[in-house]
Amino acid sequence: MLADKDRIFTNLYGFQDWGLKAAQQRGDWDDTKSLIARGHDNIIEEMKASGLRGRGGAGFPTGLKWSFMPKESKDGRPSFLVINADESEPGSCKDREIIRHDPHKLIEGALIAGYAMRARAAYIYIRGEYIREAETMQKAIDEAYDAGLIGKNASKSGYDFDVFLHRGAGAYICGEETAMIESLEGKKGQPRLKPPFPAGAGLYGCPTTVNNVESIAVVPTILRRGASWFASFGRENNKGTKLFQISGHVNKPCVVEEALSIPFSELIEKHCGGIIGGKENLLAVIPGGSSVPLVPAEQIWDAPMDFDGLKELGSGLGTAGVIVMDKSTDIVRAISRLSYFYKHESCGQCTPCREGTGWMWRMMERLRTGDAAIEEIDMLQQVTKQVEGHTICALGDAAAWPIQGLIRHFRPELERRIEEHNARFAEAAE
Ligand code: NAD
Ligand code: SF4
Repeated sequence: MLADKDRIFTNLYGFQDWGLKAAQQRGDWDDTKSLIARGHDNIIEEMKASGLRGRGGAGFPTGLKWSFMPKESKDGRPSFLVINADESEPGSCKDREIIRHDPHKLIEGALIAGYAMRARAAYIYIRGEYIREAETMQKAIDEAYDAGLIGKNASKSGYDFDVFLHRGAGAYICGEETAMIESLEGKKGQPRLKPPFPAGAGLYGCPTTVNNVESIAVVPTILRRGASWFASFGRENNKGTKLFQISGHVNKPCVVEEALSIPFSELIEKHCGGIIGGKENLLAVIPGGSSVPLVPAEQIWDAPMDFDGLKELGSGLGTAGVIVMDKSTDIVRAISRLSYFYKHESCGQCTPCREGTGWMWRMMERLRTGDAAIEEIDMLQQVTKQVEGHTICALGDAAAWPIQGLIRHFRPELERRIEEHNARFAEAAE
């Protein structure tokens, strides 16, 4: 279990004040100037050495991503940092806790990351439903401006850096980085084709890096305590500490900071008071927010909770939004409900997603009631394959994967429902 002294988010549960004074007492904004003085390239190298991988779901190496930003401005074009606080993935609620209770970590991280990438400003794009969180965030930004920590000559570093807060309007797809950029520009939030990646052509056509809230909020601590300290947690390719969000059928759902690679069993037993009804009552787990396939109980229990460990099980770490389902769960209904979510949130721009998400949801509903033919299970699998990898953004994959996981692990349950339905039908016809 991670020792308290190794936790980055020391006010995760809001036991202390989130305001500037209290944040400074916890060590935030401590001689930020000297962190900045290390220089652009030095900071990026330190981030690479820390092994930090993006905490928004995709796990792309953060330092490497920063290194894609240009060192010289072309035609006087500024560079930007966009911070993705559009946390909308079902099962994910960690960025919310950071913003509620530790917003200064995010602002200080934005300044340092922005400086490293030679960005002129940071835009924090926060989901529309986070109303109170947006208020807290704006107050914290105002405090930082008033104290001279950001703005002109930020933290007396000689560097000018602005931070703007932008509220979304409730569309899940605006969490996709290029849709977010479109939305910030005042357009309809629809993803762009990549490449070009935002580092080449992002906000207003300028070089831009989009990073998740957690990825940015950990930056000051990594620099203060050193890359090797951060890299000492987890294992090769899966380093550092991470916020896990455990919901569903556990005795004590929570958000907790732990070392990556912690076994699932330890996460659940030490922090969540165990599975409701005991280990034997566990049915399946969606370990990384709703976009990754479920893992059945017998495979997840000893699994390391990290990028590679969950990939080996045919799933993923995603946002580390761990959704625990016990044997009382109607697993087909649960996955069908996710299908509805993706159908509802599809931006409709590309045909396989626009049409496919509707198809998948309708077929899932038929399988839920059993009112389907056995062959339709394979047909549904085929539809998911026609959507996966054939769309502009990852929403198509995210809609397909949970269904693929269900078919892989719970085919007998799908067949049982169809057989039972057919038997009822035959009985009624007699
Ligand atoms: P992605 O793999 O396409 O990209 C990840 C990041 O790396 C992006 O910033 C991208 O620009 C960058 N990148 C990747 N390849 C690059 C290259 N060759 N050159 C330059 N930059 C490159 O994934 P994505 O579509 O950004 O994100 C998908 C993930 O988002 C899913 O895994 C899902 O878990 C997660 N997600 C999170 C939430 C949430 O609420 N936090 C919501 C929906 C989805
Ligand atoms: Fe829009 Fe879906 Fe295509 Fe993404 S995959 S661009 S959400 S239609």
